[in-house]
Amino acid sequence: MSEIAQPAASRSAIPSDREMVEQTRSFAFTTQIDKIVAWGRKNSLWPMPYGTACCGIEMMSVMGPKYDLARFGAEVVRFSPRQADLLIVAGTITEKMAPVITRIYEQMLEPKYVLSMGACASSGGFYRAYHVLQGVDKVIPVDVYVPGCPPTPEAVLDGVMVIQKMIEDNNPRPWRDNWEPGVYRKGLGGRK
Ligand code: SF4
Repeated sequence: MSEIAQPAASRSAIPSDREMVEQTRSFAFTTQIDKIVAWGRKNSLWPMPYGTACCGIEMMSVMGPKYDLARFGAEVVRFSPRQADLLIVAGTITEKMAPVITRIYEQMLEPKYVLSMGACASSGGFYRAYHVLQGVDKVIPVDVYVPGCPPTPEAVLDGVMVIQKMIEDNNPRPWRDNWEPGVYRKGLGGRK
């Protein structure tokens, strides 16, 4: 069948299939819903700071203009656990604080993540004392431990990036799924 004759100008305005594919590449992409949700979640972490000691001061510098956590999309600090999905524990956690931090963790939204910043939060640090938790993971599961006393801001940023990678790859978190409360938590009822 012969094609319907068209004026030369109109013929040249209709892109070929190949041209349409090329043009589409400049403004469209394909993905999977899980991947785009993970991408959004990874780049919009809302941290809840739990600073109790000197590490808390170092955490402030991570938020400040020099190290600028905003570059990683995680600058929207929230002091309400119901609006936060990243708990940053920065400083010594005493046994008296254990129920408080547990309650805060329980009130946070899922999916939620915990970054333990510094020696005190991760292991009690040099406070080998009866009243200090020898690691916040005695009462809540921790995703990333950042070593140091205090850790450098770069190390904290690295810890945030590890969490971002975890979110992006949708990695399983067996340390959270299999977490058991430590000796300090006995009798208080653990939560995951
Ligand atoms: S790890 Fe060091 S800097 Fe951080 S709270 Fe403990 S003593 Fe302070």
